[in-house]
Amino acid sequence: MAVDAGGIASAVREELEPGLRGEVVCPGDRGYDTARTVFNGMIDRRPLAVIRPADASEVVRCITLARRHDLRLSVRGGGHSVAGNAVCDGAVMLDLSAMKALRVNPETRRVRAGPGLTLGEFDRATQAFGLATTLGVVSTTGIAGLTLGGGLGWLNGRYGLACDNLISAEVATADGRLLRASVQENEDLFWSIRGGGGNFGVVTSFEYQLHPVDLVLAGGLSYPLAMAPGVLRFYDDFAKTAPDELSTAASLGLTPAGEPTVSIAVCYCGPIAEGEQLLRPLRRFQSPVDDGIQPMPYAVLQSTRDEGFPSGRRHYWKSGWLREVTDGAIETLMRFLPQMPSCASGVGLQQLHGAASRVAPSATAFPHRAEQYDFLIGSQWSDAADSDRNLQWTRALFEAMRPHLEESVYVNNLGDEGPGRVQAAYGENYPRLTALKRTYDPDNLFRANHNIDPSTDIVSGEQ
Ligand SMILES: Cc1cc2nc3c(=O)[nH]c(=O)nc-3n(C[C@H](O)[C@H](O)[C@H](O)COP(=O)(O)OP(=O)(O)OC[C@H]3O[C@@H](n4cnc5c(N)ncnc54)[C@H](O)[C@@H]3O)c2cc1C
Repeated sequence: MAVDAGGIASAVREELEPGLRGEVVCPGDRGYDTARTVFNGMIDRRPLAVIRPADASEVVRCITLARRHDLRLSVRGGGHSVAGNAVCDGAVMLDLSAMKALRVNPETRRVRAGPGLTLGEFDRATQAFGLATTLGVVSTTGIAGLTLGGGLGWLNGRYGLACDNLISAEVATADGRLLRASVQENEDLFWSIRGGGGNFGVVTSFEYQLHPVDLVLAGGLSYPLAMAPGVLRFYDDFAKTAPDELSTAASLGLTPAGEPTVSIAVCYCGPIAEGEQLLRPLRRFQSPVDDGIQPMPYAVLQSTRDEGFPSGRRHYWKSGWLREVTDGAIETLMRFLPQMPSCASGVGLQQLHGAASRVAPSATAFPHRAEQYDFLIGSQWSDAADSDRNLQWTRALFEAMRPHLEESVYVNNLGDEGPGRVQAAYGENYPRLTALKRTYDPDNLFRANHNIDPSTDIVSGEQ
């Protein structure tokens, strides 16, 4: 039975609230505007209701309710998807931010983690035992969306992606079941959630493998933009020969005074003395304006970039995989950087390599298994009046960079870019994902995401 929009709030309250330990927030309630706010300030959407379940059973109740009333459902973990899929106009928003249970087992080096945790909350708890696993590089990001799309961070060279460290997950499916997914149980579901995003169900608990990680040798080197061609060529050669313990990134941006700069950042997670020796050629290459590389606790490294990404700024991102930092790519970047409209924006190359690159492309839903860079134009600004300028510059740079990029893209960087780009994000794994979507979510209940449409014709790719 479908109900009209005005009746949804009372239907949700009547059916869910009795016995609910979580919360229901509807339009007109105190806290509604806060509850519908996500990281990207460009997103201003009004859900019919925000439901904050306290546990997996309440997630299942929400799914059942959404199905019964034929409601659109969106799922929020940490709310950092730049596409803003966590919140939709006229949908019920399942906000998992209250589900922060976390249990570290130092003996087995495993952790069970709730889907409402941020990276910072997760890292602080595991670091108490000198343990960590790969997550992203800004501590306010949610573990859920990040892991389900892949999860690229400082430990990927040694330990693989976040999704590679997933041992099992508990998944609430569209038909109201709560399934355990692992190599032993529901293996196909386990395959699909390691890269396939929120298409297959709502993950109510993640179990990860942890590794001993204590002090790391990390930080950055920066140079004026004029030195970028030499610095980036040297960086590319250096990064390509990096051992698994070393993961790197390069970025281009503007100083607060508006001066274009290029920076190299590193994280070495092996013995510090060996790292010092390994990084010597990089640190001695020309003269950086600033050298901030030093031993630091891993949890400290994980929050060093937070200041640059406050919640609420306007974001517009374009991205693709980059195999090589060619002269053509460098020339394009040099041409565009001085015109970058916002000092807060940046162009980044985040290295995927080592263990993360050696997994077979078909072993998990995340197919981009090669030594390469996640190239991202991450534009951010505060004033709505500056939006057109920032959008135009970002699109123009992306089009100019396209000949240098692979056709494929990391799903977690996608904005609202259409079905072709979602297929580009899944590449050769798209047909299997579509088949599994038909098994686990044939009616596409979970479609407020980078959607794998179950009605896609696998052979032609047409819908
Ligand atoms: C500042 C910033 C830094 C970033 N850095 C990195 C980085 O270093 N490495 C990297 O790999 N990525 C990075 N990302 C991208 C990030 O991985 C994605 O934005 C990711 O979607 C964030 O997850 P979230 O839970 O915070 O997002 P949300 O917006 O809450 O969720 C995104 C989508 O994931 C799905 N989802 C979330 N939770 C669940 C769940 N429990 N069950 C089922 N589906 C769910 C939903 O479809 C939802 O729409 C960064 C993003 C930002 C904004």
